[in-house]
Parts: sequence; structure tokens; C-alpha cells
Amino acid sequence: NPTDRLPRRRVVLAEPRGFCAGVHRAIAMTERALELHGPPVYVRKQIVHNHFIVGMLERKGARFVDEIAEVPRGSVCVLSAHGVSPAVRAEAAAADLHVIDATCPLVAKVHQQAKRATRDGRLLLLIGHDDHEETEGTRGEAPQRTVVVETVEDVDRLDLAPDTPVAYLTQTTLSMDDTADVVARIRARFTDVEEPSSETICYASQNRQTGIKSLARQCELILVVGSENSSNSQRMVDVAGKAGVRGHLVPDVGHLRAEWLRGVRTVGVSSGASAPEVLVEEVLVRLAEHGFDQVDVDTTAVETVTFSLPGGRSVEPGRRL
Ligand code: SF4
Repeated sequence: NPTDRLPRRRVVLAEPRGFCAGVHRAIAMTERALELHGPPVYVRKQIVHNHFIVGMLERKGARFVDEIAEVPRGSVCVLSAHGVSPAVRAEAAAADLHVIDATCPLVAKVHQQAKRATRDGRLLLLIGHDDHEETEGTRGEAPQRTVVVETVEDVDRLDLAPDTPVAYLTQTTLSMDDTADVVARIRARFTDVEEPSSETICYASQNRQTGIKSLARQCELILVVGSENSSNSQRMVDVAGKAGVRGHLVPDVGHLRAEWLRGVRTVGVSSGASAPEVLVEEVLVRLAEHGFDQVDVDTTAVETVTFSLPGGRSVEPGRRL
């Protein structure tokens, strides 16, 4: 049989992948709000950027809205993991909402740094995607003193004197390599630059990107399970491309195209910080149907970060959806 001579088709599965501590916490807080208060519990924006999770919570009685104005007065309202501007908090208080704030503690830390830098009179250069909710929230800390920059060219275009006192911060889910270029340009263009007090690309984004680089050394194709609006998942696909390997975002198994697999012997699989494991499992089953029936795990980091719920309760350890 000639196929016996062909090397086995193989999956290399990145570890860590999937849910980060902030996503675990935000989902647990929404579920807990539903248990405590009963439906409906309103959630401003997608609690985490994953359509499967949003659908699951909707079935349990969560109602997703875009703006506080859509929430009836006095209701319970969860704020998403991506954080909000002070203006949104003020609006929620004015509507007498019972607010449950699921902002990731690492995003909250970026807000603190934004406040500090702008209070000290600096102009904040916020490296991120202009239309992303996290950027919107962080910019909202000092909208008059914040400029969002995404690329090296954006930095070049800034109409500012070189001695303008600036500070920079990054969205938590960016590509480490792209951000390094933008930071280098900021340092080159300005003489008075305040550095962030700590790295603001979060541990989960960093680890998932490092995992993709490792997959790229072993695979001819990389599949990243994650939704289209998930910044960190999109950056993982970018990292694959930069490493010279074709990468595709797979929101769910229905998006996996057989032609991607043509001629491929080794496929790498990972998932973004908001993607539940069940979606990865479905992709693995489909890949097995295409002959990728050997799965090797590639561990590049061990994650031990957990965030407790308000009130000190811990999120169920090891919970994987
Ligand atoms: Fe927090 Fe990072 Fe997860 Fe975003 S990706 S929720 S910043 S841990």
C-alpha cells in the first residue's frame, strides 16, 4: 500500500492555549450574577470576544447590549472583560444600575497607568486598534490627552514637537513584535518618553504568540481557534504569517476548509484567550477525519495565573469549557 510509505499526518497542539485568567473570571462572574439575581442579567458588549460563549450565556438568561442606554433602570449589568471608560461608569451610576465589573485586572492596571501618566501632564500614546473596545475604554480615562497609534507610520504622522512629554502604553492583546517596532519609533521620535511601569501586553497574549512561533517551526499550516473580533486570536494568525507559515482563524469547525489541508502533513492548532476548549476538540475531531490522527502537545509555558472573583471567591480551578 503506497500510503504506508507516506509520513503520518499529525497535529501539533499548542499548550498553553485557550482561556486566560481574565476570561475565566469574566464568564464566572456573569454566571454567578445569573445565579444570584436570576435572569435577565444585562451585559454591556460581548463579555469576552467569542460567539460561542455569548450564545451559551444568552441561553442562561444574559442579555447583551451595546450601550448602557439600552439597559432598563435599576437592572443588573455586567461590564465586559475589556474594560470601560469612566464615562460609561458614570452613565451606569446615573441609571441606577447594579454594576458587576468583569474588567480583567490586567486591563484595569493599564487604566491605572493611563490615569497616572496623563495626570502628570504627559500625552499618552496608546498603541492599539482604534476601534477595539479595550482601546476605547483606556482612551476614555483621558480622551483629551490620549492619541491612539497603531503603526510606525502613525507615529511618524504625529504633529508634535520632539520634546513633547509623552508616555506610551499598549493594548493587552497586541503582537509583541509589531509593538516593539512602534515603541522603538516612539523612543526615536521623542526625547521625553515615560515607559510603562510594567509590560502591558498580557501574559496570555505573549504565551499564545510564543506558542505559535514554536508551531511555525514544526508545521506547514497553523489553525487558530477564535472569533473574528478577538484581537489576541487575530494577532496569533499574524504571528504565524510573519514566521512564514500559513495561518487561518477558525471561529468554529464549520469554517475549517478541506482545501487548506491539501498537501499538509503537520498542522499546528492553538486557540485564542477567549476560545473555549470544546471548539478546539471539534476541530481535532474533524482533522482526525482527514487523517490527522496523531496529536502531539507542544508545551512552551506553564500558566499558573488565576484571578479571584470579587469577594475573594476563587474561580473553579482547571475549569475548561
Ligand atoms: Fe486579561 Fe490578557 Fe485575558 Fe485580556 S487576554 S482578559 S488582558 S488575561
